[in-house]
Amino acid sequence: MSLEGKLRQIAREVADANVDRILAFEKEKLELDARQRELQAKLDAANLANDRLVEYEPRTKGDYMCPKCPINSGIAARLKPIDGTDRLDRFRCEVCREVFEFPA
Ligand SMILES: [Zn+2]
Repeated sequence: MSLEGKLRQIAREVADANVDRILAFEKEKLELDARQRELQAKLDAANLANDRLVEYEPRTKGDYMCPKCPINSGIAARLKPIDGTDRLDRFRCEVCREVFEFPA
């Protein structure tokens, strides 16, 4: 092989190595893009929660309302009284099933 041929072969190997790096960079960029979209969605949800807090009414038409469902999901959900004691009022959300306890 001529010197020119050998130099061309080295150049081809360098170029081939760059193809592998390009693929690795593209893969990494796709992962970063996905992570960015995920973070943006979480940021949007967090901002939405603050907006929903302004709208939250703890009591509507005589019923106590779940403090989690409207903030997390935008759903107004009633709290149903469940077996409490004379010292403890207990409620369960009809949607998320979370139990809330308050001193009577
Ligand atoms: Zn709930």
